[in-house]
Amino acid sequence: MGFVTGLQCRECGRKYNIEPIYVCEFCFGPLEVVYDYQAIKKVVSRKTIEGRAENLWRYKELMPIEGEPQVGLNSGFTPLIKAENLAKIFGVKELYIKDDTVAHPTLSFKDRVVAVALTKAKEFGFDTVACASTGNLAHSVSAHGAKAGFKRFIFIPATLEATKIVASLVFKPNLIAVDGNYDDVNRLCSEIANKYNWAFVNINIRPFYAEGSKTIGFEVAEQLGWKAPDNVIVPCASGSLLTKIWKAFKEFREVGILDEANPKIFAAQAMGCNPIVTAIKNNTDVIRPIKPDTVAKSLAIGNPADGFYACRVVKESGGYGEEVTDDEIVEGIKLLARTEGIFAETAGGVTVAVTRKLIEKGYIDKDEVTVICVTGNGMKTQEALQGKVAEPHHIKPNLASFEEILNKL
Ligand SMILES: *Cc1c(COP(=O)(O)O)cnc(C)c1O
Repeated sequence: MGFVTGLQCRECGRKYNIEPIYVCEFCFGPLEVVYDYQAIKKVVSRKTIEGRAENLWRYKELMPIEGEPQVGLNSGFTPLIKAENLAKIFGVKELYIKDDTVAHPTLSFKDRVVAVALTKAKEFGFDTVACASTGNLAHSVSAHGAKAGFKRFIFIPATLEATKIVASLVFKPNLIAVDGNYDDVNRLCSEIANKYNWAFVNINIRPFYAEGSKTIGFEVAEQLGWKAPDNVIVPCASGSLLTKIWKAFKEFREVGILDEANPKIFAAQAMGCNPIVTAIKNNTDVIRPIKPDTVAKSLAIGNPADGFYACRVVKESGGYGEEVTDDEIVEGIKLLARTEGIFAETAGGVTVAVTRKLIEKGYIDKDEVTVICVTGNGMKTQEALQGKVAEPHHIKPNLASFEEILNKL
């Protein structure tokens, strides 16, 4: 029923059957899903897609599942907001926010990857799902896994934002807070994944999971009236999202939905966790792992699994990378809020602030169409704004007290 022909090693090209595996046995390269684009071309068109429900499964032929979607039927197709106020401040003609702060049950783009991973876990017959998370994945696997009836083991760094911990716990998963950073958590999870027969969404199910990120690219193309933008600014943790947005535009061209697709892809990171951007700036694809220290915890992966491929996509597409300080991240969150009415989490502060820098430095042409990916909701990372927003005006419950304040404003 599906259009996946198998898995293939990105390095040596060796082919594998569709199984919960993620690494080539021979060269240790990562495995990627391969589709039969000729067959897909015959069954999808702009019209078939437009006639479907407004969720991330409207592009299901280009998703790595065999049967019907089972998870995430209420996720995705988030708004593409024309950001006219922000465009004025940045001095550019056409600017959009791909707003993944809304239209996902757990308020981040991770609902896209989890919808695919858990549908695939069902198809493989797993009863337990697990993940190593920087926060949003924990929230999303906890929620969607509850509805889908999975046992859940969720591993997080113990220092995560309080809101993300509560937002996960309410769904009653087994939440394991590890004394270490994300890279420590991920290393531990690889060991656990080898021993227990669980669907680790971002380890042994990773080739399938990662494909869910393509839906941002598909949606952007559709929402722009079936064309690719000139520039896309993407936040990077492992680098997977960035590579998959690029893949989405290429696939849409491959199956005849877009005539042209040559967007420049830009990587956005925090200065306190910048291994991908550093490699891009040094014009290399060798990633040097670092120890993260930034308010942008959702992006705090010091040893990014897809960093090498993210660098390659940025280079091939003609994009670049830029990094911002924690203060610039907070300023980015506040700027987006007061211009466009969107409350983004720290990762959104990163992309907005990075976009500003890229425009100022001339890497983004002011006459081109630019899309900023805002991937998570600010309600989940309120700590980042503690002491960084104004206090409310306190008054007595009478008119005189109010007018005393009013006269000062
Ligand atoms: C996970 C995450 C990303 C980036 O994920 P990749 O690992 O690079 O695919 C971006 N934004 C938010 C809010 C995230 O939670």
